[in-house]
Amino acid sequence: MLSDDGWEAVLQDVIGFQPGHGAGQGEEAPAPAAEEELAASQPSLSDPSLAELSDMAEACRSATDDSDSLPDNSLWWVNLIKSHASGHSRPQPCKVPRTVLSACSGSAAELMVLKALGIPFVCWSTSEPCAEFRSFQAANHGPAIHHMRKTMQDQVTDCPCTLHPEASACFVDHSPSLAVYGTPCKPYSVLRAKRFVNGSRKHVSYDVTFSDSFDWLQKHTPLVAIMEQVMGFVSPESQSVEESPMDRWGF
Ligand SMILES: [Zn+2]
Repeated sequence: MLSDDGWEAVLQDVIGFQPGHGAGQGEEAPAPAAEEELAASQPSLSDPSLAELSDMAEACRSATDDSDSLPDNSLWWVNLIKSHASGHSRPQPCKVPRTVLSACSGSAAELMVLKALGIPFVCWSTSEPCAEFRSFQAANHGPAIHHMRKTMQDQVTDCPCTLHPEASACFVDHSPSLAVYGTPCKPYSVLRAKRFVNGSRKHVSYDVTFSDSFDWLQKHTPLVAIMEQVMGFVSPESQSVEESPMDRWGF
């Protein structure tokens, strides 16, 4: 459990996420006093310097760690998460395995997280076009993954998976406990040179998030679904269209 302000407060502190961004969504609500106090104690993350990140990472170092190694800059967010989660006890892990569906899986990091949290699971299916990543999934999770497909579309059609190429079809049940998918991020990434160019042809994978993922969700009807995207997904569509790709949801 997190603080009463939930994930938006964490995101605002940790990665500068501005809730309510986009056309017609109104002004951002002022941060609660506790959040302002916490934010004031941390360096600004709008343009953090390497020194600031190092200071924050150093603050995360264990009290028993007396090594003189340089701090790991990638861990600068740990104390922020701890601050927001303080005062909440960790719930007992469930006894019944949760059922998981993963798409655009990569290394299937979500399964690693479930392992780390001590939550038992079976993964009905992953989808990943890269054979090396699928091998990585198999090596780490073995029979806990029932089917491995190449694409999200394959998961919709029930075609034979890469583990059972001789089968006539590979079916999975409906309504898994959790579905996690990370559709292609290149169309929305601000690192792409033409991301904001007016009238430029959209990235070839632009509509995957708005077509294949809808088919996938409608077929599998997960109890909970998590979509992972880059922050550019909530940035304006282009220089002349303030509406973000995320604002298109539900049209
Ligand atoms: Zn299969």
